[in-house]
Amino acid sequence: MNVCEICPGVFHIEEDYRVYCTLVAGEKSALLWDTGMGRKNLKAFIEARLALPYRVLNSHGHADHIGGNARFGAVCLAREDWPLLPSAPEYALNDLPVGIRFELGGLTAECVSLAGHTRGSRGLLLRERRLLLAGDALNPRMQLLGPEPDSLEALGGTLRTVLDLPFDGFLTSHAPGVLDKAQAEAHLRHLEAFDPDALRPVRLAGETVWRGEWRRGVWRSVFMLSEAARQGFAAR
Ligand SMILES: [Zn+2]
Repeated sequence: MNVCEICPGVFHIEEDYRVYCTLVAGEKSALLWDTGMGRKNLKAFIEARLALPYRVLNSHGHADHIGGNARFGAVCLAREDWPLLPSAPEYALNDLPVGIRFELGGLTAECVSLAGHTRGSRGLLLRERRLLLAGDALNPRMQLLGPEPDSLEALGGTLRTVLDLPFDGFLTSHAPGVLDKAQAEAHLRHLEAFDPDALRPVRLAGETVWRGEWRRGVWRSVFMLSEAARQGFAAR
């Protein structure tokens, strides 16, 4: 597995092809953010390199973020996303409430809501690093597919809140490096200027979904919407 130290104590691990987990290590304890696809032994990989106690958190409940959960004894995932788990977990499952803070020793991690991509999407704000771990919630190509996305009003609220948080860049689960906070603003401008008639149908995993794109200068926001989400826009 490729590992990149993004900034002191923050390690972005490519657990599978273009699937990233992040290890956040302070002086006293650590957090593992997501467990990837689960095809490799992430637990053994982490423990060969980390001597600190650590907790395991999931950014949200999609399969490529929880795949390795069963290797760990306990995992925290927002309760709203528990219905996305494929079966009854073989490990202790705990909620990941908004506002909970983890004092890692010289480094604080604070859980924030990033509802949109899923209702239970969470972010982890690392104030001392001015960095947000965002899972899939701010991806440049934002997927709002299946029954699990939150409402578009909730997504707008999330994006406005994100713009007020004290960070400069964010990590996603499917890109190797830090993305600029301005991406969140691009998504918000896209949402505010949204034209449902400009959506184009595309095939994704055997299903027709709807693609909307917004551009200003170098900034681009893409939304991939299910039919239900498209109808939600059209009804506004
Ligand atoms: Zn996802």
